[in-house]
Amino acid sequence: MKAEKQRQGVDVIDFGVGDPDLPTPPHIVEALCTAARDPATHHYPSYTGMYAFREAVSAWYSGRFSVDLDPATEVLALIGSKEGIAHIPEAFVNPGDYVLATDPGYPVYRTSTLFAEGKMHELPLTAEHAFLPVLDDIPSDVLQRAKLMFLGYPNNPTAAVASRAFFAEVVDFAREHNIVVVHDNAYSEIAFDGYRPLSFLEVDGAAEVGIEMHSLSKTYNMTGWRIGMAAGNADIIAGLGRVKTNVDSGAFDAIQRAAITALTGPQQCVADACRVYQKRRDLLVGGLRELGFEVPMPKATFYVWMPVADSMAFAARMLNEAGIVVTPGVGFGTHGEGYVRFAITRSMERIEEALERMRGLAF
Ligand SMILES: *Cc1c(COP(=O)(O)O)cnc(C)c1O
Repeated sequence: MKAEKQRQGVDVIDFGVGDPDLPTPPHIVEALCTAARDPATHHYPSYTGMYAFREAVSAWYSGRFSVDLDPATEVLALIGSKEGIAHIPEAFVNPGDYVLATDPGYPVYRTSTLFAEGKMHELPLTAEHAFLPVLDDIPSDVLQRAKLMFLGYPNNPTAAVASRAFFAEVVDFAREHNIVVVHDNAYSEIAFDGYRPLSFLEVDGAAEVGIEMHSLSKTYNMTGWRIGMAAGNADIIAGLGRVKTNVDSGAFDAIQRAAITALTGPQQCVADACRVYQKRRDLLVGGLRELGFEVPMPKATFYVWMPVADSMAFAARMLNEAGIVVTPGVGFGTHGEGYVRFAITRSMERIEEALERMRGLAF
């Protein structure tokens, strides 16, 4: 529908894509250029990632979260965290086993489960429970065959955040039911008003039951570069690594060298990006509230998750009558119905323009 509108000459304002509009910071681009000129980077990379990259990840986790990781066994380079999410069920899920995953959720939790012939059990995220899953609601017959659980906070698409107490509950639950926890932490650095998101691995016992998928994509505006990391329990990392050895041959060394620069270099660029998103968030949420929408103020991520009566009808109306793309919540799972997601990856001018167009519609 968006392509059709654009063909008709409509100036579409696209809040649909979770892809930063800001460029990768120049010092990281420079590091890539230098590394790409070095023929030593032109060969097959190591399967697990350069040792120096894994050391940089370990140092970053230590500095940022006070989490100690052994670069040799507890860190694995990924070709973006999506790649790790897509492959991990192949390591731990047999046909007919259950995977627990939040609904609404990142769509690859479901497809990776289906590729491994697993069965999906959705954990509904509702406003009533602050968009955290209610673990006690999972039926016991599902628990008996549950092998793996996907969750991620700060959350895409709901923008919800999780407390240490919730993560501690997840650790106890995973221990009791022998479930591998995969925490997807792509947004840990995109946060506002002084809020500092946690790593799942900060919680006591987390490294016994799970791993975290992380990524440079959102933190350093590097979505196109395809570089991320899995960190945590050595056995789980080894299982994922064994699958990957048979699928890909690692991430380009020049990109890993640039990623080392990103993780170990100056971090001012991250604070600057958060300030930009925070201003956009304030403008968009403020404007939507003036229009009469009851929209929560997100503490983290670059998403605004707004309640509406019918997500498909609302998104269609926004596109047809205002030339604005928002994502219908139902696209993230049945419990996403009743919401639309705005990605604030557009400029202040475009957000102001979108609000102006919306003021012309009667909601
Ligand atoms: C963006 C995103 C990812 C994937 O990021 P990569 O670019 O593959 O590292 C994973 N999970 C969530 C929830 C995301 O929003």
